[in-house]
Amino acid sequence: EKSAQEAWEQDRAHLIHPFSSLAANKEEGCTVMAGSDGVHVMDAEGNRFYDGIGGLWCVNVGYGREEIIEAIVKQLRELPFYSAFNNLTNKPASALAAKLAELAPGKLNHVFFGTGGSVANDSAVRLVHHYFNRIGKPYRKKILSRQNAYHGSTHLTIALTGPVYQAGWDGATDLVHYLSAPHSYRRPAGVSEEGFLDFLIQEMEDAILKLGPDNVAAFIAEPIMGAGGVIVPPEGYHKRTFDLCRKYGIFYISDEVVTAFGRLGHMFASFDKFGIEPDIIASAKGISSGYQPLSATIISDEIFEVISRPGAAFFHGFTYSCHPAACAAGLKNIEIIEREKICERVRKTGPIFEKTLHKLEDLDLVGEVRGSHFMMCIESVADKKTKALLPAEANVGKRIAQNCQKRGLIVRPLGQLNILSPPLTLEVAQIEEIGAILRQSIKATMDDLKK
Ligand code: PLP
Repeated sequence: EKSAQEAWEQDRAHLIHPFSSLAANKEEGCTVMAGSDGVHVMDAEGNRFYDGIGGLWCVNVGYGREEIIEAIVKQLRELPFYSAFNNLTNKPASALAAKLAELAPGKLNHVFFGTGGSVANDSAVRLVHHYFNRIGKPYRKKILSRQNAYHGSTHLTIALTGPVYQAGWDGATDLVHYLSAPHSYRRPAGVSEEGFLDFLIQEMEDAILKLGPDNVAAFIAEPIMGAGGVIVPPEGYHKRTFDLCRKYGIFYISDEVVTAFGRLGHMFASFDKFGIEPDIIASAKGISSGYQPLSATIISDEIFEVISRPGAAFFHGFTYSCHPAACAAGLKNIEIIEREKICERVRKTGPIFEKTLHKLEDLDLVGEVRGSHFMMCIESVADKKTKALLPAEANVGKRIAQNCQKRGLIVRPLGQLNILSPPLTLEVAQIEEIGAILRQSIKATMDDLKK
């Protein structure tokens, strides 16, 4: 058994961390995570934490699910892997595709499997481009995205991702047109929420007309923006953006990488919660609760009918598309979500989680608590009235996260934000305990900042 110290030394010498300041890691060290149980994770020293981030928005059914582990092991024994190109397939992949077609809204009946959310969105755009290419030339290419969006980190999906996360990248952004984020908390002073919504819709229609409707292939949107700051759009935004897409023949890609499989109390939030039927749903994370890397891009009959016509093949795929062990994990995970009625449960416990976190708004440092169900975020400010931010050097999100970790809770820091996306199986008493830890940790941070 390696000691935590040895793991850390090997890490510092060789491991490149995702989404991290590598300089800060080197200086400050890392927590070596080593165990898990239900809604908790343990570090190598045996300290136990509430997993306030659900792995990374993904461990929806919690840790230690023997059934999922057994399903994976059984599949690994039978057939650990085989490709599914051309006329090859495997049972878990076809069964999971059928299950997703059953769960997804009406005409979404065809599934492309990949290994993660970036791959799911990348594939969504490839599918849309292939569709328009098959319909005839010149073909629609442009994709409408939004500031603050996070759609992934491949070369294509970092382009879809809003410019906030594009540091050190200067690629093919002419493919993408960015609209404003539907960020009500930071809307211009003096503008009402309705006025702001009208502005967003007008901006989108103006952009479509300026680019030329015949050039715009798709609009991509997370139902609630995640990494961009858990931004819940104003009421009516989904329907009105969807209607604009329909008006101009633009495909609507719903990036449900975070929001699907129960996080907002539904299997697919775009349809079940926000009432729109996208042309494509990109999903990952909660599809396997993180037990295996897996994504599913679910497309409509209309798109499938065109791309499956005789003629040019859809030459897109990955070695691990349709991975049997990953699909076996997905199938068992969805079986658990259904059997334990996790969506219904989240519709009850999610509002309690929201209420518990909203209570923190009485603290001077907390500008806004926002989000829905088990997708929440706390925004810290220097001044509640003006919403002015603290200087970046104050590292407020990181300080709060460190104070939480000392008290047994992992939350994600992102600038002035702290994000919470815990497993969906939290009990009410555990929600209350998390609320208490957050209060103590934010208060401790307020004291630190005064020093
Ligand atoms: N889309 C959304 C909304 C995400 O939050 C993420 C990751 O957090 C992605 C796409 C990319 O997923 P992955 O990191 O699995 O590639």
